[in-house]
Amino acid sequence: MSQNGIETIVIVGAGQAGASAILELRANKYEGKIILVGDETHLPYERPPLSKDVILKPEETKIEILSEEKLAELGVEHIRGNGVVKIHSDAKTVELKNGEIVAFDKLLLATGGAARRLPNFDALGKHVYTLRNLEDSQALVPVLQAGRRIVLIGGGVIGLELASSARSKDCIVTVIEMGPMVMGRSSPRVLSEFLLAQQRLAGVDVRLSTSIADCKLDGEEVVITLEGGEELRADAVVYGIGIVPNAQLAVDAGLDVDFAIKVNDNCQTSHPDIYAAGDVATQLRDCGNHRRVETWENANLQAGIFARHVMDVEHPTPNPAWFWTDQLNINYQFVGDMAASEWMVRGEIKPELAAESSFVLFGVTDGVIVGGITVNAAKEMRHLKKLISKNAAFEADKYLDLSQDLRKLVK
Ligand code: FAD
Ligand code: NAP
Repeated sequence: MSQNGIETIVIVGAGQAGASAILELRANKYEGKIILVGDETHLPYERPPLSKDVILKPEETKIEILSEEKLAELGVEHIRGNGVVKIHSDAKTVELKNGEIVAFDKLLLATGGAARRLPNFDALGKHVYTLRNLEDSQALVPVLQAGRRIVLIGGGVIGLELASSARSKDCIVTVIEMGPMVMGRSSPRVLSEFLLAQQRLAGVDVRLSTSIADCKLDGEEVVITLEGGEELRADAVVYGIGIVPNAQLAVDAGLDVDFAIKVNDNCQTSHPDIYAAGDVATQLRDCGNHRRVETWENANLQAGIFARHVMDVEHPTPNPAWFWTDQLNINYQFVGDMAASEWMVRGEIKPELAAESSFVLFGVTDGVIVGGITVNAAKEMRHLKKLISKNAAFEADKYLDLSQDLRKLVK
C-alpha cells in the first residue's frame, strides 16, 4: 500500500467534479494510481459554455478541463466511452460496460445528472431537444437559425440562457414556465422580475404560470396546446425542466440514496470508501438537512473535500455558495442564501437600460447580510462574499450609499 493505505483511486464520471478531484488529489500530494472512468468519449470538459459560447462561437470556444498531455503528466489512466455499470462494494471493484473489472481502494462517484424527461415530447421523435452534453449543444447550432420559431419549455437557467443565445441568433423565441417566476428555484423575486423584463425587452415571449396540455407533430412543425386551448407552432422545442441525479449505480450498490446520493460533510456515502461529489450528491449541512447544489463551484468544492479527506488534510472553511449566469450580455452572480427575507438595492434597477444597469442586491435576514447578487458588477462579488462570511450586520446608510466604496466597508 502506498499512502494512507491507498493504492488506487477510481473516479467515475469525467466531468467537472471528476476532473477537479484529480487536480485536488495531486495538489494534496496523493502519489498513487488514479483511474478516471468516463462514459463519454471526450476529455473532461466544462458545461457552462454549452448553453452560451459553444452555440454562439463554436469555432473559438474551448471547454476542455484537462488535456491528454495534462492527464498524462498527472499520471491518470483515462478510460473513455466505457462507463461503470455496477459497483461491487464488498469486493471494492467496479464493472465497466465492456465487462472489465477495476479494483479500487477509494471510489468517487461524480456521475452528475441527466435532463429530466418529458416523455410526451420525446415521443414526437424529431424537433425536440434537451441540453446536458457537448453533443446536445452541438445539435442546437443548426437548429437555432434566424427566423426559426423556438419554444423553450422551462424558465430556469437553461431556458433563459438558451433564450438569450437564440435571440442573439435572431430566432423567434417563446419560453413556457409552469411556475409564477423565471429562475424561481435560484433567484429572489426582485431579481426574477428584472430577468423577466430583460427577456421581454429582448423580444422573448415569456409565458408564466403556463402548463402544456398536449403536443403533436404536424409535418415539420411541433404543435403545442396550452391549458386554456391556445396553440403554439414551433420549428423546434428545447426543454430544460431540471435534472435527475445519475444515482442508479449507488442505488444498486445499496448505498443510502434519497433521489441523490447522501454524503456526510466529508463527501463520504454510507460506504466509508465510496464518496460522491457534484450534482449527484446531496450533502449533510450544518442545519442538519441534506441539500444538493447544482453548480460548477459546488462540483469543484466537493471534489476538494473528497481529496483532502482521503489524504487526511483538514478542510478550510468554505466560502458561501456562489454561481453565475450570463444572459443577454448581462453578467449575474449570486452568493449565499437566495431565500433571505428582504432584498435591498445598492444602485438603481433600470430594466429598460440594461447595458447601463449595474447594481448590487443585499439579502438580509434578521438584520444580517446572508445573500448577495451582482448585476454587471462582478468586481463587488468578493466584498459580498466577505460580508456574508463575517455575518455582517446590514447598515443601510453605509451599504446603500454609492459614494461609499464597498471594498473599504468590508474591512
Ligand atoms: P458533470 O459535469 O455532468 O459530469 C458527470 C460526468 O459523469 C458526465 O460526463 C457523465 O456522462 C458521466 N457519467 C455518468 N454516469 C456515468 C457512469 N456510469 N460511468 C462513467 N461516467 C458516467 N453552473 C454554474 O455554476 N454556472 C453556469 O453558468 C452553468 N452553466 C451550465 C450550463 C449547462 C448547459 C449545464 C448543463 C450546466 C451548467 N452549470 C452551470 C452547472 C454545472 O455545469 C454542473 O453543476 C456541473 O457540471 C456538475 O458537475 P458534475 O461533475 O457533478 O457533473
Ligand atoms: P432548473 O434551473 O431547475 O429550472 C427548471 C425550470 O423548469 C423550473 O423553473 C421549473 O419550474 C420549470 N418546469 C418544470 N417542469 C416544467 C414543465 N412541465 N413545463 C414548464 N416548466 C417546467 O433546471 P434547468 O434550467 O433545466 O437546468 C438544468 C441543470 O443545468 C441544472 O442543474 C442547472 O443548475 C444547470 N445549469 C446551470 C446554469 C447556471 O448556473 N448558469 C446554466 C444552465 C444550466 P418549477 O421550479 O416551478 O418546478
